[in-house]
Amino acid sequence: MNSAAISSPRILLRHLRQVMAGAGEAEHRLQKIVELIAANMIAEVCSCYLMRAGDMLELFATEGLRRDAIHKTRLRLGEGLVGDIAAHARPLNLSDAQAHPQFAYRPETGEEIYHSLLGTPIMRGGRVIGVLVVQNRTRRHYSEEEVEALQTVAMVVAELISSEEMISSEELMDTAGNATLPHRLAGRVLAEGLGAGYAVLHEPRIEVIKTIAENPAEELGRLERAITALQEAVEAMLTSNHAAFTEESREIFEAYKMFAHDKSWLNKLRDAVGSGLTAEASIKRVQDDTRNRMKAVTDPYIRERLSDLDDLANRLFLHLEGSTGIDRRHLPRETVVVARNMGAAELLDYDRVHLKAVILQEGTRSSHVAIVARALGVPVIGQCAEIVDLVEQGDYILADGEHGQAFLRPGDDVKHIFAKSVRHRAERQAKYAALREEPAITRDGQRVSLNMNAGLLIDLEHFDLAGTEGIGLFRTELQFMVRSRLPKVEEQTALYSKVLDHAGDRPVIFRTLDVGGDKMLPYLRMKEEENPALGWRAIRIGLDRPALLKAQLRAMVRAAAGRNLSLMFPMVAEVSEFIEAKAILKKELVRSEGYEGGAPKNVRVGAMIEVPSIVWQLPHLLKYVDFISVGTNDLQQYFYAVDRGNSMVADRYDMLSSGFLSMLRFIVRESTRADVPVSICGDVAGKPLEAMALLGLGYRNLSMSFEAIGPVKEMVRSVDTSRIESFIEALCEAREHSVRQQMRAFARDHSIII
Ligand code: PEP
Ligand code: MG
Repeated sequence: MNSAAISSPRILLRHLRQVMAGAGEAEHRLQKIVELIAANMIAEVCSCYLMRAGDMLELFATEGLRRDAIHKTRLRLGEGLVGDIAAHARPLNLSDAQAHPQFAYRPETGEEIYHSLLGTPIMRGGRVIGVLVVQNRTRRHYSEEEVEALQTVAMVVAELISSEEMISSEELMDTAGNATLPHRLAGRVLAEGLGAGYAVLHEPRIEVIKTIAENPAEELGRLERAITALQEAVEAMLTSNHAAFTEESREIFEAYKMFAHDKSWLNKLRDAVGSGLTAEASIKRVQDDTRNRMKAVTDPYIRERLSDLDDLANRLFLHLEGSTGIDRRHLPRETVVVARNMGAAELLDYDRVHLKAVILQEGTRSSHVAIVARALGVPVIGQCAEIVDLVEQGDYILADGEHGQAFLRPGDDVKHIFAKSVRHRAERQAKYAALREEPAITRDGQRVSLNMNAGLLIDLEHFDLAGTEGIGLFRTELQFMVRSRLPKVEEQTALYSKVLDHAGDRPVIFRTLDVGGDKMLPYLRMKEEENPALGWRAIRIGLDRPALLKAQLRAMVRAAAGRNLSLMFPMVAEVSEFIEAKAILKKELVRSEGYEGGAPKNVRVGAMIEVPSIVWQLPHLLKYVDFISVGTNDLQQYFYAVDRGNSMVADRYDMLSSGFLSMLRFIVRESTRADVPVSICGDVAGKPLEAMALLGLGYRNLSMSFEAIGPVKEMVRSVDTSRIESFIEALCEAREHSVRQQMRAFARDHSIII
């Protein structure tokens, strides 16, 4: 079907307005609406299903299906195509509906003769309250315009339903099945910690009271004024002192500002108003569209951008209402922010004193908000399904960022247990703070070097507090990821200088860009890859696009003029790759002799060991490197062929298995034999039990996130390595899938604090 099949949306909306304003019962008007849609979209069928108590979708009005099916045909949430649309809250556009595996035939409707189907959810307050469907006999694909037209009509129907005549508000509440009962919600830890407070909904609920505009010209004027106010507010945010908090946050705000001026977004809003919707309904329409796109997108960068647009829509809505929403900078009491998702800039927007935790419906550990939250020490629980729908503004919430769960409206017993956990955590933190100045020396006198992983300037604040020797891994890509354009050599130089200035005599190991896989750069055009983790990433990009690597190495060399420079290359899979990368560095070092300030005093070049192929070339590689650092996150991923970000398999294999420990043993033995320093900078270094195994294998240099330093130092000080070595040796030979239990028992028997 082509778009000529629908008359102008404006005419449809005008007719709908007449129906809405007309006399008669709501149900009668709903019937009129479906008839109108069918005629307008040249569809043989248009039906409306509404959600009743018990998550049951009931046919309320139809043109084209048998009328006696009204109030008889019912589908459970998730059942049939209608139930599927409701369950996923997204439209379905099918040219052959009956071939779809979800198709559920209902003989009383007489729908067997219709093949194509277009359906869209009817939403209210973020909840699905019904489904609107059109069907045709022919197998045809409905156009974009038709999908949009049906979504618009769904908004009008939502307005009609909430007039309460068809389904009581109690029943509508009931369908959401949440009322005000306490809830435990499972999620994933995106940033560790415990926090409790009152819910603040990050996004205002966009409630559209009126969908169709009385006076479109006036509506356009309202929209334009709100857009200008929004753009000014974003500008003010950028110039305020707060925005200058760190360079990273300013970069994020810059990208955000660009979106507030995005022509295609603004035109979509204007078009929606032009079609006869109110300004509020237009914002909602465009926002729903963005959210639907967001669901389909897996690319993390595009998701971040869509999430920016989503947030801008919320802000625009507030400007339209003449409100600036809650004052994020001056929260009145302990706050737990609840959001579907949010950008890092928005997190920085909140008052740090009262912000106790963040709970997200989506989010991953590598999203910007998680990276920044960890640096700020704000606990974040992500992937908490339905939290946004379940929570009400002001609800009390406990965020357990130790076990990845949240308690909504908890009872006294749960509050009591949580308070105990908070006390224990505070005691532990105090104990770790007291250990800050103490050396990391084992009971048998072995010195262990504990270092910190960093990547943002915010991390430097923790550097002084963590009681570490240096930075064992500086992930330079984080700086690139939070920017909207490639940082120039001068900017990179300034950043690396700052890090080195701050570190003083303490060593810092910079890692060159490790992008690709799940770390995308907006300005680096990358082809979609079927297996990004096995694809064009890290040093592979550096060698294929030497200009990028050269620029970064030049910046590092300049920043280290007259002082020490340590750097390493990620994802080295072949010795030749390391040799090639080092040759590029050499050239930069030769150039640097002519610089003002001169060349670095002492340059150490290392390789990350995170691809199994390089392990079997170690004796050869060790002749060329000054040090190696084992990235167990990726090494484990490639060793077991498990996607580290896929929760279905990520925990399937244990690092504490005979197989993996044997590989780590081989690496440490080879490097010791060649007298090349070796460290571990993957996440396992920050887990006391795993770190105990590493000591047993012979590792003496570990790098981890700042909050892990305390617990690991405590473990180190309680261990006797001479005893553990033979024990771990035996475990390597045990051929066990997991030796975790044996290790725990060993720690208990030998009073090792893990
Ligand atoms: C690793 O792979 O273990 C590592 C430290 O690097 P990243 O987590 O940044 O990939
Ligand atoms: Mg890695």
